[in-house]
Amino acid sequence: AGRLQGKLALVTAAGQGIGRAIAERFAAEGARVIATDAAIDKLAGMDAVKTAALDVRSTDAVNAFAKAVTDEFGALDILANVAGYVHQGTVLECTEKDWDFSFDLNVKSMHRTIKAFLPAMLDSGRGSIINMSSGVSSIKGLPNRYVYGATKAAVIGLTKAVAADFITKGIRCNAICPGTIVSPSFEDRVVAVAQQTGKPLAEVRQNFVARQPMGRLGTAQEVAALAVFLASDEASYITGQPHLVDGGMAI
Ligand code: NAD
Repeated sequence: AGRLQGKLALVTAAGQGIGRAIAERFAAEGARVIATDAAIDKLAGMDAVKTAALDVRSTDAVNAFAKAVTDEFGALDILANVAGYVHQGTVLECTEKDWDFSFDLNVKSMHRTIKAFLPAMLDSGRGSIINMSSGVSSIKGLPNRYVYGATKAAVIGLTKAVAADFITKGIRCNAICPGTIVSPSFEDRVVAVAQQTGKPLAEVRQNFVARQPMGRLGTAQEVAALAVFLASDEASYITGQPHLVDGGMAI
């Protein structure tokens, strides 16, 4: 049997990158996966009991979806909040709109999904919530990650608060803090920085690689391996912490 045999898991932003790797790995470990993304077309062909369009910026959509899921499947065992966005720039480049968008997508989205799915988890008396933070957060500051770092630090605070409130009710809540991971949006960021700075693509990419003392980028599968552990009963004594998977970035 798999390490998540029979568990019901919902993953946000499962269409590509880290979210997709987590959803695929959860399914491979025997979980019944509900794979969601704002872009439904990205979920085609996934090994899931349900795929659905879910924009985690919409409170109404999240609440309606939570009701539908709970009615059809019962309580989640695993909620993986992966949706997030990287704003590139310092405080000087961060507009009011950038700030609000970043906090809405990276932090309030988790408030929405946890608030909507937690009551059924409490009724069942168990559950593992996994929130995607980043090494770039309260753990480490890096250039041009102003509002991004602020949101990912907030994710760690949110995670600890939820963990503390429901620790005696069978609910664990942890944050994953990746270093630089190859994903579609990472490749877009390399191109964007090259365009902004006029530097060659290879040099920009190398600068991202150099952030990890291990001397390479991470893979989404390496992040998914940690997610499986935190989601599983193997992690039954682990809650309320940020967990780094960062190639040594935070050493
Ligand atoms: P990505 O950025 O390539 O893909 C993001 C996915 O989110 C897309 O499928 C997109 O359709 C979906 N999405 C966008 N807006 C949404 C919304 N409103 N509702 C639902 N889904 C939405 O993926 P990634 O780079 O693997 O990043 C995933 C998460 O991991 C993010 O929270 C990111 O901040 C975090 N993270 C990534 C890295 C990295 O280096 N890639 C490092 C640390 C943390």
